[in-house]
Amino acid sequence: MKCAACHNEMVKKKGEIDLRIEEKLYLVRNVSYEECLACGEKILSPKVSQDLFEKIRNRKFVEEIVKIPVLDGTYG
Ligand SMILES: [Zn+2]
Repeated sequence: MKCAACHNEMVKKKGEIDLRIEEKLYLVRNVSYEECLACGEKILSPKVSQDLFEKIRNRKFVEEIVKIPVLDGTYG
């Protein structure tokens, strides 16, 4: 699979990714995805993303409190 952004070959990986769906941020663990090592683009296969959307729709997830670094991009 080639990267849609920079056309480099993507590598298959398994791990943790973040997804933003309808303004909500989800953390997905133990998921297979492909990553472009050149630009960092990550993609899920249609089957995996369909599965994840299904789980979200059915609220098949746990809610954890995760601390994430937040930056303010305001400048000038
Ligand atoms: Zn890329």
